[in-house]
Amino acid sequence: MARITGPVCRLCRREGMKLFLKGSRCDTPKCAFERRDSVPGMHPYRRGKLTDYGLHLREKQKVKHYYGVLERQFRRYFAEAQRSKGNTGNTLMSLLERRLDNIVFRLGFATSRAHARQLVGHGHITVNGRKVDIPSYLVRAGDKIRVKNRAASLQAVQASLAENQRPLPDFLTREEAPIPQGEVVRLPDAADVSIPVQTQLIVELCSK
Ligand code: SF4
Repeated sequence: MARITGPVCRLCRREGMKLFLKGSRCDTPKCAFERRDSVPGMHPYRRGKLTDYGLHLREKQKVKHYYGVLERQFRRYFAEAQRSKGNTGNTLMSLLERRLDNIVFRLGFATSRAHARQLVGHGHITVNGRKVDIPSYLVRAGDKIRVKNRAASLQAVQASLAENQRPLPDFLTREEAPIPQGEVVRLPDAADVSIPVQTQLIVELCSK
């Protein structure tokens, strides 16, 4: 299960925006981006003017970091979006939003996508009554996401729900008690992504 490792705050500083990769810390004054929004590295104040290629690349990297996917997996999503009918950019963002780890995060069951990925990987989550431990599992409309009815699972999720302050996106519904669960009401699209993304730039870069 390949994942992004290493310090993540520098990813926010690189992209020039908060990507909310560290859970509750992101909403406190301890946020590294709030304290220092310069680019990481030897020459932090040389952000400079981006070339056309740089603009396209940064947009793609931002989305990859936001969802915690690596290049190869991202290319697979892009290939699938290209094969499907409709707008490639919209389909790409829909595929990324449909990942089970993202859904668990957006339901407030986890403090970050990395935490959600861990919850899924450790078998704390069921989809339509069956355990699913694959973070990249793609949910469908009508799927019911539920936390396993056992002490360790409930404890982990209830702590996250208690500190969750993010609004619930309107493609999901949630019940917090007695067992935290949620439902995918409809498939998400690019409008449901909670950071600004210029999908056209990503499509142009990946189509070359
Ligand atoms: Fe980004 Fe969160 Fe780190 Fe702030 S605390 S820089 S939002 S990962």
